[in-house]
Amino acid sequence: ALTAGIVGLPNVGKSTLFNAITQAGALSANYPFATIDPNVGIVEVPDPRLEKLTELVNPKKTVPTAFEFTDIAGIVKGASKGEGLGNQFLSHIRQVDAITHVVRAFEDENITHVSGEVDPIMDIETINLELILADLETVSKRLERVAKMARQKDKDAVAEYAVLEKLKEGLEEETPARAMEFSSDQQKIVKGLHLLTAKPILYVANVSEDEIGEGDNDKVKSIREFAAKENAEVIVVCAKIEAEIAELEGDEKAEFLEDLGIAESGLDQLIKATYNLLGLATYFTAGEQEVRAWTFKEGMTAPQAAGIIHTDFERGFIRAETVSYGDLVDAGTMGAARDRGRVRLEGKEYLVKDGDVIHFRFNV
Ligand code: GDP
Repeated sequence: ALTAGIVGLPNVGKSTLFNAITQAGALSANYPFATIDPNVGIVEVPDPRLEKLTELVNPKKTVPTAFEFTDIAGIVKGASKGEGLGNQFLSHIRQVDAITHVVRAFEDENITHVSGEVDPIMDIETINLELILADLETVSKRLERVAKMARQKDKDAVAEYAVLEKLKEGLEEETPARAMEFSSDQQKIVKGLHLLTAKPILYVANVSEDEIGEGDNDKVKSIREFAAKENAEVIVVCAKIEAEIAELEGDEKAEFLEDLGIAESGLDQLIKATYNLLGLATYFTAGEQEVRAWTFKEGMTAPQAAGIIHTDFERGFIRAETVSYGDLVDAGTMGAARDRGRVRLEGKEYLVKDGDVIHFRFNV
């Protein structure tokens, strides 16, 4: 399963946020992929469409879809040249599919900051620099190897050499790979290098409890400016309050949010933004037994998407009886949608779309 790694300097609120994630407590029995690793937290993806489908179909059970956040521990500063914990930090980042970077945007005299003062941009750059240095090493090593082949006019090597040179130049100017421009062919080469700074990233600004629901403070503003340069999104949370919200449900949660003057909890915003960042989307199955949301990766074919439910579904795939969420809601029932000709029989080549409601037909 795809996962996003939570990183940040010490004392910025990572553990508090991660606790809110585990507090929110996805029912792991519903999620067979769930690991028991204490550093992994499963979150359910909030989706109002699921409630609407439940109203329409009235099933025995409704199951949201979920994915994982990984809490990445380890020493940040000096990680790229360090050993032990520093190396561990980098190797954990290597394994995640996206980075959730928590930045401290709250003042609290009682909580010391590693560098003495709260300067979000300096904090971001401290971590980014370690990742950039690690990537520079990867790129330099690869350059040495490819240079020889490029001199022998090997076509692939020549192409890769150009990409590596450009990466090296950019990284030396402290630009992360994700912020550099490459042609689509070049992007494939970049992808193959598995660089840390090529991973999609999202910044989480952790503000204090009395600032949530207020406008952006100066620190948040500066984080937004910085993130804009990388086309990265910023989510504002108060980790401490998120931990409290995570214990509430339904009406209680709604009331609490209203008192705070926010429409959606920071954690819910973070979950949705990360889901998109990972390139994930949702299709639904809607039967009398169960209405359920399933996560698939954008670009998946119908059999691949069926395989997420069960490998047998992929192997024996015949057709995907499909109706879009909007068409189903318009029609009111599956039968009415069928009468209106809105239910399509899709084959092996069909690319599943976000919001498809699917009934798979398969051979066992
Ligand atoms: P980590 O080292 O990044 O995991 O940071 P922690 O989550 O352990 O938080 C460090 C300290 O900051 C703890 O004492 C938290 O209670 C406090 N803290 C975290 N988030 C907030 C917040 O939103 N507001 C305030 N005032 N304190 C916070």
